[in-house]
Amino acid sequence: MQYQEVIMPRKKKIAIVAHDHKKQELVEWAKRHRDALARHDLSATGTTGALLERETKLPVNKLRSGPLGGDLEIGAMISEGALDCLIFFWDPLAAQPHDPDVRALLRIAVVWNILVVSNMASADFMFSSPFMDGEYKRQVPDYEERKRKDWPLKG
Ligand code: PGA
Repeated sequence: MQYQEVIMPRKKKIAIVAHDHKKQELVEWAKRHRDALARHDLSATGTTGALLERETKLPVNKLRSGPLGGDLEIGAMISEGALDCLIFFWDPLAAQPHDPDVRALLRIAVVWNILVVSNMASADFMFSSPFMDGEYKRQVPDYEERKRKDWPLKG
């Protein structure tokens, strides 16, 4: 497999999503990391974003609510190269009406090899990484090469 290098700049574009039973946890985590979060561009699904803005006073680009398409909007941003990181506090104990969208979002984040963290511990580790305050060279699989080889009829 060939890879292309994509530079994640010092100021990262971060998307944030929290399912309803995880919102409180996310807000507490975000307050602890407010200064670090302030150094990056934040987007979030609607309700999560409104809550974060209210509780941290940080500007957040608010998308649609998750069940109304917000997860898919974030997925589209990832596939367009418009995001570097995803903080997604998903709920392992509750069924979601938009489970297909949740799975699609987690899938596309792996396709493009962006950073994904799903709980407080991994989010803490994320912000203790020197890569968050510097550049990081992200290796993205060269899907063009694979398309030519495996799927010659695809656009
Ligand atoms: P919300 O969406 O931030 O609008 O609640 C989150 C989700 O359930 O995906």
